Amino acid sequence: MIPAPFDYEVAESLEHAIALLGSRSDVKLLSGGHSLLPLLRLRVTRPALLVDIARIDGLSYVRDAGDAIAIGALTRHHDVATAPLLQEHNPLVSYSAGLIGDPQVRHRGTIGGSLAHGDPASDLPAVLLALDGEIDIVGPRGTRTVAAAAFFEGVFQTAVAADEIVTEVRVPKLTGDHGWSYLKFRRRAQDWATVGVAVVTERKNGGRKAAISLVNMGATPLRAHAAEEAVASGGDPGAVAADGTDPPSDTNASAEYRRHLAGVLVRRAVEEATASA
Ligand code: FAD
Repeated sequence: MIPAPFDYEVAESLEHAIALLGSRSDVKLLSGGHSLLPLLRLRVTRPALLVDIARIDGLSYVRDAGDAIAIGALTRHHDVATAPLLQEHNPLVSYSAGLIGDPQVRHRGTIGGSLAHGDPASDLPAVLLALDGEIDIVGPRGTRTVAAAAFFEGVFQTAVAADEIVTEVRVPKLTGDHGWSYLKFRRRAQDWATVGVAVVTERKNGGRKAAISLVNMGATPLRAHAAEEAVASGGDPGAVAADGTDPPSDTNASAEYRRHLAGVLVRRAVEEATASA
């Protein structure tokens, strides 16, 4: 289908983008376009104005930020996947970015767009949740930082207001005490996850704790709290991986199959993460 008519402006700077966002009532940002353009073509969304932020200088980077790695919102998935700083300090992020879609998608889609879009089937939101990452959001009221745990509010709903822009994402540096795994079950190589699992384990005081999050098991990426407790107490995280989830049934899988997959994937991902540290 052809999108409904819209006006188009190229933002020259962050300030210009914020001004354009506030200039009309129904404005959408465009970065990589790999989630927004399909929705426009389906006429699921019909903004009056598209503000293209893809050419704003200074928002595409991967930087050392002390205990964290900072990633600019316009950094494309390919650049996240291949960034030496991430490969060294947080390979969970680079590895999972390398599993997004196909090379074309990874060369256009951005980390900021992926998070702001709020699709529970996307990979990086769950990864950020397992890492307790942070997201900077800029708008007419200034800059605020939102923890990943408070960022995802529902299907295609996030903490980003209509007049705000995601500018930076920060993830912690992992140490030798950390292990990690990202497992993505999908029917074809380029598909979204039927179910995905991100795990970060940490050796601490003679024990081990785990942060476990799930892709496509509810309206948002979810922390699998019961499975995390099972790891801490030496139990089977797979047996309780789907506790508290509400997975969808669709043409890829039934909710029941997704619950089964979550158990299998969580068990394997915890084993893989544990073996890696
Ligand atoms: P856009 O499409 O430009 O924007 C998406 C939404 O976010 C829009 O509402 C836009 O207004 C808003 N937005 C964009 N940038 C910002 C910002 N900086 N601040 C605030 N709001 C913003 N994703 C996966 O995770 N895993 C997959 O396996 C996967 N497979 C894909 C396969 C195909 C064929 C396609 C087309 C896409 C796939 N995607 C997948 C989605 C892809 O990763 C998108 O690039 C990403 O979800 C959105 O990023 P974008 O830069 O393209 O955003």
